[in-house]
Amino acid sequence: MTAVTTASYQPPAQTKVLLAEDEESFVDALVVGLAREGFDVTVARDGNEAIRLFDEVAPDLILLDLMLPKLSGIDVCRAIRARSSVPIIMVTAKGTEIDTVVGLEVGADDYVAKPYRLRELVARMRAVLRRTPQSEPAPAPDPVGRARPGAPAPASGTQLEAGGIVVDTDRHLVFVRGEEVHLRRKEFELLTLLMENVGRVLTRDVLIDRVWGADYYGDTKTLDVHIKRLRSHLEEDPSSPRLITTIRGVGYRFDEPRP
Ligand code: CA
Repeated sequence: MTAVTTASYQPPAQTKVLLAEDEESFVDALVVGLAREGFDVTVARDGNEAIRLFDEVAPDLILLDLMLPKLSGIDVCRAIRARSSVPIIMVTAKGTEIDTVVGLEVGADDYVAKPYRLRELVARMRAVLRRTPQSEPAPAPDPVGRARPGAPAPASGTQLEAGGIVVDTDRHLVFVRGEEVHLRRKEFELLTLLMENVGRVLTRDVLIDRVWGADYYGDTKTLDVHIKRLRSHLEEDPSSPRLITTIRGVGYRFDEPRP
């Protein structure tokens, strides 16, 4: 007896998503999954179609595969950026970090690497939509992008562990190579966010948005100051960091160094 629930669930205003993707397996899974999350999905199978449908549909957000037939995701991104500031999330194949950085340079707002979980993708979609003024009223923003009401808890539980650092997000404790350290609130949130994304570049915008909030218009040097403090707590040699890597002009990444 769930027919009523299904029929009555209708978000107030559906967010229109243009999905530019040529791999059938991804398309099928995404169309179903995103519709269930309340998104109205239009699919483009190649780069030219993506641009044509962008004009036709006027989407609120674009999921843009990097490797598309006819016109690459980079070219599509450039073309759309020339006339719109619509949020664009670039979808890359695993291990193509260079392309990812180029993607961010041509104006993508964020990226996800295949294979990804639907939950992760939707969280990123909501995050970029939150940063956009015309976005739907999203659920209460979670400062570090963790599970929000209705979303399943992260599979990893409440403990994050990488590179000799352990973060207990429930008890708000941090251990560096076995020893507890005391971090300030923002340092803790920043570290949690970085460690939830080990090996991924997080852009300055994403870090500032999720730790300080979308309405933060202060000095962006604040981020660097916090990174510096984090390094002084975490790194064996803060002057040559191995855990938190600077990606010049883009952002930061938490790395798990080889022993
Ligand atoms: Ca592709």
